[in-house]
Amino acid sequence: MIGLISATAAGAAARNRLAAAWPDRTRVYEGPVGDAVRAAFAECEQLVCFLATGAVVRLVAPLLEGKAADPGVVCVDEGGRFAVSLLGGHGGGANELAAEVGRLLGAEPVVTTATDSAGLAGLDTLGLPVEGDVAGVSRALLDGEPVVLDAEVAWPLPALPVLPRAGGEEAQGACVIRVTDRAVEPRAHEVVLRPPSLVVGVGASRGVAAEEVLGLVEGALREAGLSARSVDRLATVDAKSGEPGLITAAERLGVPLVTYSAQELAGVTVPNPSRAPLDAVGTPSVAEAAALAGGGELLVPKRKSERADGAPAMATCAVVRRPVRGRLAVVGLGPGARDLLTPRAEAELRRVSVLVGLDQYVDQIRDLLRPGTRILESGLGAEEERARTAVAEARAGHAVALIGSGDAGVYAMASPALAEASDDIDVVGVPGVTAALAAGAVLGAPLGHDHVSISLSDLHTPWEVIERRVRAAAEADLVVTFYNPRSRGRDWQLPKALAILAGHREPGTPVGVVRNASRRDESSRLTTLAGLDPATVDMMTVVTVGNTATREIAGRMVTPRGYRWQDTRPEEAR
Ligand code: SAH
Repeated sequence: MIGLISATAAGAAARNRLAAAWPDRTRVYEGPVGDAVRAAFAECEQLVCFLATGAVVRLVAPLLEGKAADPGVVCVDEGGRFAVSLLGGHGGGANELAAEVGRLLGAEPVVTTATDSAGLAGLDTLGLPVEGDVAGVSRALLDGEPVVLDAEVAWPLPALPVLPRAGGEEAQGACVIRVTDRAVEPRAHEVVLRPPSLVVGVGASRGVAAEEVLGLVEGALREAGLSARSVDRLATVDAKSGEPGLITAAERLGVPLVTYSAQELAGVTVPNPSRAPLDAVGTPSVAEAAALAGGGELLVPKRKSERADGAPAMATCAVVRRPVRGRLAVVGLGPGARDLLTPRAEAELRRVSVLVGLDQYVDQIRDLLRPGTRILESGLGAEEERARTAVAEARAGHAVALIGSGDAGVYAMASPALAEASDDIDVVGVPGVTAALAAGAVLGAPLGHDHVSISLSDLHTPWEVIERRVRAAAEADLVVTFYNPRSRGRDWQLPKALAILAGHREPGTPVGVVRNASRRDESSRLTTLAGLDPATVDMMTVVTVGNTATREIAGRMVTPRGYRWQDTRPEEAR
């Protein structure tokens, strides 16, 4: 809950706007400001105070407990010009809240957390449990001092300006970011990040106590030198999905309980199959098979719980380090203008450590990348190599973005990349505004009815195929947007395609030519099938040809939807 506190009329007005926009997230605290702040501080995860920062500092100072416990606090000034993240920037989520409040009120978010201001990923915002000297290592990153990344377990982290570990010859006293699931204590000047890399398979007899399961799991991890903070899930067989002891154990470990069918588990090869589970639930292994079901390396083979009274064990467990899943984001950058790049695309670009793309597209977004992002750019042509590189980097466990203009799935990198990719990586698609859509918006509403895009590049597609598709579009009376319409060495295809369309459409059919849509040197022309001069068309252009219903209306290209507005007035009123 977000507590809202204000003192003046202007503050109350801004407060009411937040309360109205977020009815379920906010609670208004009325009454004397001091009491209101104290009550909200105790009851809410976050506060937005429409008060001077000084007043809020004095009021909350005696209440502060520590980063982990204190709520995030944002202050908004009387004029509603600034949303200041005052307290709990990361842990309390105040930096994000300041941005959200800023968007809502039209205020400038003010964030002073050093890593955020410098565009670095905060070590405590990576979504992984973190231990050790976060402040010291963050300062070293900010000051540009050498920081060594020691990743025993590869994990798709965002970019960090670090040196890879070089055969133990790290600079004396250099800070270290260690990524490991081992039960190590962070050393001085070291931060330990805990990737969720461990899967614990568990088997249980009916009625098992949660304590017995927890004792078994914790003992197994301890003896193997593994950290419980890296456990991602408990896994078992479907038949045990309702077993209270397992459910409680998973809750206490703070992880989900995942289940598999006996049939799936029976298909997993394990080192220690046995008779008992086969008779009971229909698979020769539960703990080992459930742990290994997603692949990975068996670190702790099946072991049984020990009970003080010597009674038969009621639980078994096995621990597996699951294979790293890198992350490949296929990101469309839009047609060129920065404000046509989606917020999701921007967030994805700031989430990766490796960027793969054509050099001219990399230039388009270079300023958005976090310091330390590894950029693998290449020139025109090398599509397959780019796709292969991106997939290989993701397979190695990195967070990768493969970028393309417009939508990266339209005449672009998504298909060659996904044709290469097996199911051992996570793939995330971020759609973009395509050239056809951007051009359509410039021209008017040419795509108001059924339409098709056709690329005239016969580099990868034989001309006969292209021609067959143009003919089909002509016969079906589809609006057509031609991509890759004409280049210096490829100049006869566009006139030929237009001639095919002209066989089915009037010479006066509207044709829109848009060059560099949304870019600084955007230009557009509305002409006709008969009037189009192919020399005005190049590879920075799309050409949109109307169907038989498309009209030029007030200088705009409009394709009717094909329906009539219904007149709902009574007969006599028409
Ligand atoms: N993935 C892109 C298309 C890549 S194919 C998309 O979704 O838009 C390259 C062709 O797209 C160019 O030859 C040109 O025809 C067209 N194109 C790309 N961006 C453009 C823009 N800003 N203005 C006009 N045409 C553009």
